[in-house]
Amino acid sequence: MNLDFAIRPKEIYFDNAATTVVDSEVVAEMQAFTEEKYGNPETSYHLGQEAKAAIELARTRVAEMLGCAPAEIFFTSCGTEANNWALKGINYHNAKGLIVSAVEHPSVIQPANWLGKSCKLIVLPVDSVGRIDLKVLEQALQGQEIALVSVQYANNEVGTIQPVKEISALCKKYGALYHCDMVQAFGKVRDKVSDFNADLVTLSSHKIHGPMGIGALYVKQGTAIEPLLHGGGQESGMRSGTHAVSQIVGFGKASELCWSGMTKEMSRIRRMLDGLFADLKVLTKAVRNGDSKNCLPNILNITIPYVEASVLSGVLNRYGICIAIGSACRTNKRGSHVLAAMGKSELDCRSTLRISLSRFNKETEISQFVAYLQKAMMELNLRSLT
Ligand code: PLP
Repeated sequence: MNLDFAIRPKEIYFDNAATTVVDSEVVAEMQAFTEEKYGNPETSYHLGQEAKAAIELARTRVAEMLGCAPAEIFFTSCGTEANNWALKGINYHNAKGLIVSAVEHPSVIQPANWLGKSCKLIVLPVDSVGRIDLKVLEQALQGQEIALVSVQYANNEVGTIQPVKEISALCKKYGALYHCDMVQAFGKVRDKVSDFNADLVTLSSHKIHGPMGIGALYVKQGTAIEPLLHGGGQESGMRSGTHAVSQIVGFGKASELCWSGMTKEMSRIRRMLDGLFADLKVLTKAVRNGDSKNCLPNILNITIPYVEASVLSGVLNRYGICIAIGSACRTNKRGSHVLAAMGKSELDCRSTLRISLSRFNKETEISQFVAYLQKAMMELNLRSLT
């Protein structure tokens, strides 16, 4: 593609696994609940009752998308909060062992490590594409009394989808509860919670073009979990605190919007990323990380041999392009524990980039990105390795 490099793209945002722009339809619905219908939903007059009704509509929208009863959805301030609550809230009632995978988000790994000071903690290894081994899980469940297994639906760095149905079936077989962090997969896969039969599911709004600062925990009816916050009794007494009404409204609307066109959008996005990877393989000898056959449609994680990803992404950012880097996995504390668990070398980790799309990305951005990547590599004196 011939680009006039003097005309810089305003922005190419390819980091939708980090966060997403809030859909303007979502903003419009939220606005009414900051400027006009600003009542506290616990009050009995009309402003409060309008806010309460809006919360319940949002709960219904999220529940419809996950395929559960509205009463099983509890709003939290984010996915991190929901993950912490799932692990600690279950542990409070049943302090038997806990199993997590090595590639969980830090908001699962860190509370698990904390709980592991007083209960048995097993961390499941993953293979080179980031999948757990079901036999290893079964051995762990056979060998120990386990209260909870927490394995994500899909990974935020490489997009690998875990065998959630099989994990859930093993949990049921051995009497453990199953918590599934669905923050990245929600809105990108059509599975309902009944399809994989989890007892607890974590969701987050800002990954689906909803606002930041709002998430949810699905808790299957009858699950013994300790309330997260004690106080005024909001969220059926499970998570006290005045509701963030506009955020909740936004989360509900964002859920509805992403569900409606999901199948079409996700196959368009997958095609865009497959095309991009085909180009990058030729141009840069890029290698794809993760399970390319069983992966979220919107995440492409690549290693470009001998390229310092932080430097390359810095140059790309000067052109207005936003992408994530894999960073050093072992030595750097902030490095990728996911790539490390998949057995990637320190060098590979440093050469790793993540490109993540959403329904707002256009096909033309892919060709622009390729052209700017080539320009950046020339600027850095990195020849293609052909
Ligand atoms: N779980 C996964 C898989 C994530 O990717 C993230 C955020 O990136 C979280 C949990 C945390 O969600 P939040 O940013 O809403 O706290």
